[in-house]
Amino acid sequence: MATIITDVKVILTAPEGINLVVVKIVTNQDGLYGLGCATFAYRHLAVKCVIEEYLKPLLIGRCAENIEELWQLMHQNGYWRNGPIENNAISGIDMALWDIKGKMANMPLYQLLGGKCREAVPVYRHAEGKDLDEICENIQRFHEMGIRHIRCQCGGYGGSGYGKAPGTAPRGAEDGVYLDSRKYMRDTVKLFEGIRSKLGFEIELIHDIHERISPREAIGFVKELEPYKLFFVEDAIPLEQGTWYRKLREQTTTPLAQGELFNNPAEWKYLITEQLIDFIRVHLSQIGGITPARKLQILAEQFGVKTAWHGPGDMSPLAHAANIHIDLAAPNFGVQEWSGIEPPNFVIQDLKGPHGALLEVFPGLPEFSDGYVYANDRPGLGVDLNEKEAAKYPCENTVTTWTQTRNVDGSLQTP
Ligand code: MG
Repeated sequence: MATIITDVKVILTAPEGINLVVVKIVTNQDGLYGLGCATFAYRHLAVKCVIEEYLKPLLIGRCAENIEELWQLMHQNGYWRNGPIENNAISGIDMALWDIKGKMANMPLYQLLGGKCREAVPVYRHAEGKDLDEICENIQRFHEMGIRHIRCQCGGYGGSGYGKAPGTAPRGAEDGVYLDSRKYMRDTVKLFEGIRSKLGFEIELIHDIHERISPREAIGFVKELEPYKLFFVEDAIPLEQGTWYRKLREQTTTPLAQGELFNNPAEWKYLITEQLIDFIRVHLSQIGGITPARKLQILAEQFGVKTAWHGPGDMSPLAHAANIHIDLAAPNFGVQEWSGIEPPNFVIQDLKGPHGALLEVFPGLPEFSDGYVYANDRPGLGVDLNEKEAAKYPCENTVTTWTQTRNVDGSLQTP
């Protein structure tokens, strides 16, 4: 008997104050359902609407086994394609269909992708702090947890918190997150010089530029970071300015990682096929889920580019699990960003909270241990949803402020 989709539900929950969007696909088979992540934290109601009003009516009564067919059907159904709201909505369904496929096969997802290339996935964490000493202390603590790749930032992504325009801005400048790109670059070069002289070259260091400087500035800055032998720099060039990558590549030997904002194969295809980047780090739900991510991983493999999927706090444990399953099966896996969601016994209290609520809402989160993350061996993604617990943490719709980034003259700069 074919497995038919009988219901598509959207569950909104915010156990850690971040709006998460989960899709549950119910089938005609007794007790067989799938779960997927459709989280676009800052537009969560729009994604919910696309799923409930447009994708659900398209999918009810169709065969849940035909993942590729259904992905293409959803992708082209609205005629205009590759937008973030639509892609996240499709991702929730796509991941849920892979979850169902794994349950039908009684295998964890990595088995369906060809089996393990490694037993566990090495992860990188973020060390921040107010000064060099505090950042070095945090690096040491992560290192003691077995983490060998550590991203270092001074003052978030080089900006202040959201607030009033500083005195250097012109009269009438809007509130925002103010960035002084020149100061940020000077401070960051000094930071890495300090870390290397204090801690040496054994620890792999990463830095995220987060698109917060101009492409011209990025070229000089990444060159200046060369003596500190970074594992990679993230997002040196804004999404819209991708052609600058060729100039950056010609100027530096620092490995380049790009892609957490990518929506569209056109944005990554030439960067990979022309070997202009070293690591591809898309946000899985943002590109439409496991189906396109697996194709992207294999494309990257053909050109010697490694994966470093985006793994921030504003995605659900279902998406973290999807990252881990693909990582396990990918020969060209590089490193995985992991945002501090260890089970309670691994938590250093003053680095991150205990994540108790998140783990109760999403039992089955991949396990962190000694710098590695292990998938569990339950079928599919291996992560469940406790809907009763999820209902205790309603999402909130607020105006997003951290993305209102501005240059010293008050003009907007990509966040
Ligand atoms: Mg980043």
